[in-house]
Amino acid sequence: MMRELAFLLFGAVRSALHHDPNRRVRTDLFRRKGDVIQPKRDLPMFFRSILRLPNATRVGVLSFLAVSAVLWLGNAEAGPTSSLGFAPFDDLVGGTSWGSQLLPAVSEAIGCEVDPPDSVDTPPAGRGRGGGRQNQPSRNLRNVLGGVPMTLEDCIVAEVVGRLDFDSYKEILRGLTAFGDREQGTERNAQAIDWIEAQLQSWGYETERLQYTYTPRSREGEPDPVPEPREEVYATKIGSTTPGEMYIIGAHMDGHGFGAAANDDGSGTALVLELARILNSPDVETEMSIRFILFNNEETGGGARAYVQQRNELQGIEDPPGSGQYPEPRWVGMIQHDMMLWDHGMPGPDGQVSPEQRREADVNIEFAASADMADEAQELAWFFRTMNDRYATDYPAAVGDRMSNTDSGSFQNYTAAISLRENERLAHTGSGWNPTWHQPIDVFETFSDKDFTLGLNAAQTTLAGVASLAGATIRR
Ligand SMILES: [Zn+2]
Repeated sequence: MMRELAFLLFGAVRSALHHDPNRRVRTDLFRRKGDVIQPKRDLPMFFRSILRLPNATRVGVLSFLAVSAVLWLGNAEAGPTSSLGFAPFDDLVGGTSWGSQLLPAVSEAIGCEVDPPDSVDTPPAGRGRGGGRQNQPSRNLRNVLGGVPMTLEDCIVAEVVGRLDFDSYKEILRGLTAFGDREQGTERNAQAIDWIEAQLQSWGYETERLQYTYTPRSREGEPDPVPEPREEVYATKIGSTTPGEMYIIGAHMDGHGFGAAANDDGSGTALVLELARILNSPDVETEMSIRFILFNNEETGGGARAYVQQRNELQGIEDPPGSGQYPEPRWVGMIQHDMMLWDHGMPGPDGQVSPEQRREADVNIEFAASADMADEAQELAWFFRTMNDRYATDYPAAVGDRMSNTDSGSFQNYTAAISLRENERLAHTGSGWNPTWHQPIDVFETFSDKDFTLGLNAAQTTLAGVASLAGATIRR
């Protein structure tokens, strides 16, 4: 009985702990017990956390606590005899497990099954990825590595992640590829920026543009190049309680490949836009802010660097003072997405790569071991892998320490920066694993639904991670 109560409490506590404004990355909330990750105990935070629960759940938990307290106090004289010291309570209710009764009610109230505490303490042997409880259909343990149990907060994250739409992701990507490779400095690049901005505005965002200059490389026999104006667009979901801190979700919208830059990096751009769409649903709130940036000039270098140069110093400044507005919320983490679809394995002896997504395909989460913020970035990377374990439906994730050659590099010395990709950039992509890379065949039609599904799994990973860290809730 008390274990069930404790289970509920700790789920709520972990939820509350997510809102400690002093914490950069929130992975210190967990402790590992065997293969099971559990929330850490922090009872002082518990009472704050109850207030954050959805209405019906909060009433249920408070009532439950009140009744429990009365019953326990009324029987304390009998003395503790159980291992948890609350035998009088269990005696009084005749062995009925109220917690077990409460769990289904809570589960039904939030439309998601919460696991009983047994699964917290004893991960069943042999239950692997894609498994589930035997003879008992269970949504929540599907795809969970080692049977990580589902808590109340997990259910909210699951609901947000469940709004990701495969067809919507594909349609956004198809829309982008209508502008060809969107190479920086071209008219098709400028039109794509307009289109991206229109998408963001259609979901209710106020958009902004960063203006900067880019100097093309000099070429032999040609006059010295002069700096040219460039732009990139971003939009922000403003946090409800901590608007002055934000996670940055990025991808680059420019390409070069003479095709349509569908995978590099239409696939990342569409992912960021699909997340922006979901997180600005009318009933979704996040406590912290989230900024969606579609960088330009990644292929030449310049867009992300310009953003950092112009806005690093503005972090966390309330402007105007007292307004509650933060033009540049403090960077708590930066998550980049660059090439999301193709994991067909390494080239064979004949130099050919399989036309099919390999069965071992995964999402590669990388941080830079050389970064000033490497420790924080590594924490963020492992947290994202945990989120993939819990919420991705088809493909697992792996963590590597060689993040390279993408926009997150400009941020890595200032905040916890990671990249999500189809492959490791240096070890795999750099060794010829993706024959579409910067080639005319990088067009929408080259990719299969299995490829798009890998991109969707990366989207699930980031959405779960950011929804959890930024404190997403759904108003009911
Ligand atoms: Zn790229």
